[in-house]
Amino acid sequence: MSNQNPVFIPGPTNIPDRLRLAMQVQTQDHRAPDFVNTLAPVLEGTKKVFGSASGQIITFPASGTGGWEAAVTNTLSPGDTVLVARYGMFSHRWIDLCQRHGLDVRIIECAWGSGAPADQFAKALAADTAHQIRAVLVTHNETATGVRSDISAVRKAMDASDHPAMLFVDCVSSLASMPFAFDDWGVDIAVSGSQKGFMLATGMAILCVSPKALAAIETAKLPRTFFDFKDMMNANASGGFPYTPPLQLIYGMRESLNMLFEEGLDNVYARHTRLAEGVRKATAAWGLDLVAQSPELYSDTVSAIYVPEGFDSNALTDHAFNAYGVSFGVGLGEMNGKAFRIGHLGSLTDVMVLSGLATIEMAMADLNYPIDLGSGVSAAQEYFRSGRTTPMKTA
Ligand code: PLP
Repeated sequence: MSNQNPVFIPGPTNIPDRLRLAMQVQTQDHRAPDFVNTLAPVLEGTKKVFGSASGQIITFPASGTGGWEAAVTNTLSPGDTVLVARYGMFSHRWIDLCQRHGLDVRIIECAWGSGAPADQFAKALAADTAHQIRAVLVTHNETATGVRSDISAVRKAMDASDHPAMLFVDCVSSLASMPFAFDDWGVDIAVSGSQKGFMLATGMAILCVSPKALAAIETAKLPRTFFDFKDMMNANASGGFPYTPPLQLIYGMRESLNMLFEEGLDNVYARHTRLAEGVRKATAAWGLDLVAQSPELYSDTVSAIYVPEGFDSNALTDHAFNAYGVSFGVGLGEMNGKAFRIGHLGSLTDVMVLSGLATIEMAMADLNYPIDLGSGVSAAQEYFRSGRTTPMKTA
């Protein structure tokens, strides 16, 4: 029997049938008139998800990492200084990418489980009176630790010293699942991908770029070809791509936007908060701790959960997969062996999340964790029962 179980990894996420069908189209001529009219409304719709009126949407056939590379190479020059805080695997990888591009990376080391340190950014920016720092890079949702950072606080920290640096935000695992306010937060480039909140196959890096970041292209000297913003914008202006477009993903994106807008973005966000809260109630009932250090940091798309002393989180995720055919996120980087992750984003309902909680509970009981079988599930059930008035439909 094929594995019909949902995945509980924090992306790629479960692909609803509606989106699988939308992507399952035969090859078409990407220069034909019917296709060239497809792209513009997709780009326009995507802007709404970023919360932007003034931003320019730019996509590339790539994963989120390609989006990072595009952000950096189109706006910066070798030796330019960027300011980044490291508080998880993805902020770490973004730092690595910048270093490999010959940037001068000023790193603020933070405990994993904490978020973007707006106060330390403020200090570093105030001290940079020569305005050497060209960009501040922030991971909105650190998928390795289940931490959501306060981007508006970072913007305030930048404004406090009137610093002209650009603000780049990784929203790979938050966009289309948690509120994002590109314009209000004064973001200059936001980077996301198709395989998380948009519930699509992996393969499309999705960026929103401010007029200020677009202006930076003129002086940016890092080499770029495939990821050249200007080439992409020029080609997009007439509905095309500078190379062969990922046609199936663009059709998928069109349908994904339809789904998100039909549910309503606020409802999408509320559903994610609700699912996350159910997982958090279960975690508390098991007597386990989240990696995220305090409630204001809790992510609504992924929970990273410490296993008790003496247990190995990799053995738990392996066992859940081998015994029950269900995937959970492994602990990444510093969290390897210490924490497992439950992804609760994308096309999921209360009932699907309950199945994940029941599964990990069985796996924990099999491995003699000090938990009561059913405790987490019933805590989540009580929470999901409360306030429910209409049945939740699957996508
Ligand atoms: N940033 C964050 C927060 C992520 O969660 C991921 C992937 O999980 C990435 C960046 C890298 O994206 P990709 O794997 O699509 O290249």
